[in-house]
Amino acid sequence: MDVTVKFLGAAATVTGSRYLLDIGEFEFLVDCGLFQGRKELRRRNWDKFPMPPTDMEAIVLTHAHMDHIGYLPKLVKDGFSGPIYCTDPTAELAKILLLDSGKLQEEEAEYARKKGFSSHDDPQPLYTVEDAEAVFPLFVPQNFKKPFSIHPSVEVTYYHAGHILGAAIAKVVIKGDTQTKKLVFSGDLGRYHDPILYPPTLIPEADVVWIESTYGDRVAAAIKPEEELARAINDTFDRDGLVIIPAFAVGRTQLVMYYLYQLMKKGKIPSAPIYLDSPMAINVSNLYKDFHQDHQLVAVLDDHVQHPFQHSQLHYYRKQEQSRTLNDLKGRAIIISASGMATGGRVMHHLFHHLPNEKNGVVFVGYQADGTRGRRLVNGEPMVSIYGQQVAVNAKIYSVEGLSAHADQNELMEWAEGFNEKPKLAFVVHGEEESAGILAQKLKNELGWNTVIPNYLESFVLFTGI
Ligand SMILES: [Zn+2]
Repeated sequence: MDVTVKFLGAAATVTGSRYLLDIGEFEFLVDCGLFQGRKELRRRNWDKFPMPPTDMEAIVLTHAHMDHIGYLPKLVKDGFSGPIYCTDPTAELAKILLLDSGKLQEEEAEYARKKGFSSHDDPQPLYTVEDAEAVFPLFVPQNFKKPFSIHPSVEVTYYHAGHILGAAIAKVVIKGDTQTKKLVFSGDLGRYHDPILYPPTLIPEADVVWIESTYGDRVAAAIKPEEELARAINDTFDRDGLVIIPAFAVGRTQLVMYYLYQLMKKGKIPSAPIYLDSPMAINVSNLYKDFHQDHQLVAVLDDHVQHPFQHSQLHYYRKQEQSRTLNDLKGRAIIISASGMATGGRVMHHLFHHLPNEKNGVVFVGYQADGTRGRRLVNGEPMVSIYGQQVAVNAKIYSVEGLSAHADQNELMEWAEGFNEKPKLAFVVHGEEESAGILAQKLKNELGWNTVIPNYLESFVLFTGI
């Protein structure tokens, strides 16, 4: 048996994770992500898939972020009908996120049609909500740490990767005619001291490793994010102001809710109402209860006790009417809403109404990409455009570091050191050229690893005649 891999994404870039494995009579994909960010990357979402999707027999997912699952509806629309393996929480998260993605694609196509800036006369979405729904029956959810077979010669096991709820490292064991080989896909690795998620599992053995390198060039500052968060909130409350926290619905919102609960409980910030104003974030938070075995909050997630996601000061606002009542809110209160980079969503109308008041504070808790409204606010611009109007930024803008869901360079190395023997080959993936390059060099110098940074659409023969 021969084993080959073709890199259909996450090669010298962070998005579009898709690795096509071929063991001769069986072809399967590990992750099925969307390309995001720069236009030339996003254009790849429209490229013809390098093989007929009908020929591919299975998909193995690591976790539910869009850059790992976001291409699924397109692939299913184009004929893929095999099983999609993932952990139980990943299946549920994926449903929430794919529906949202379908809606966004439809809205973008509609917007392009109205504005007439598309090069097509009739711009079409990459996929629709309906296309996203067609993916759901194909999910075959699996437990962590329990091997399952995807082919008579291929067995997969998921291990906790931290990062986000349900995120997994995938170990793929290929039983050839004469030899057995182990492939390990890191997926995205989380932090080693996350208060909610388990740390990334160390895997003792592998022949070939795929290691992510998002922060391969960065060592996280040794700061306590909860203290920075407390400082921003106390500062704003001292002015009798209102705090707005734009946050991603998945992961970041729950981490913020966790810290706010702890800070109030310990008296480090005054007890004040918290409004979680995002239906998606509410749905995601509820999954932590359904999958309590897959994170560390297990001891406190009980209906009868107060816990970070359920206490007397925490209010879940699902309806639009509820959201609107927050426009008149004044004084000491906290609104958590999406999107995290203030590029859309309900947080826009909170910013629209509350940015002009100098008493208020806006606390960013994640990376703000270039060109986003969040970045302009963090950069201290005095006016921002919202709903086509110029809004004065009189509120104070804060930025809290250290809430990242990604392992830093030290943590990636710590995970790599977990192998008892060095793998024969390691692909350094899911990182911009510079961070992938720096991590690859470090793995080579310090651990003697044989590393490769693959190129987009590059193929490698991993084993022959096994
Ligand atoms: Zn991820």
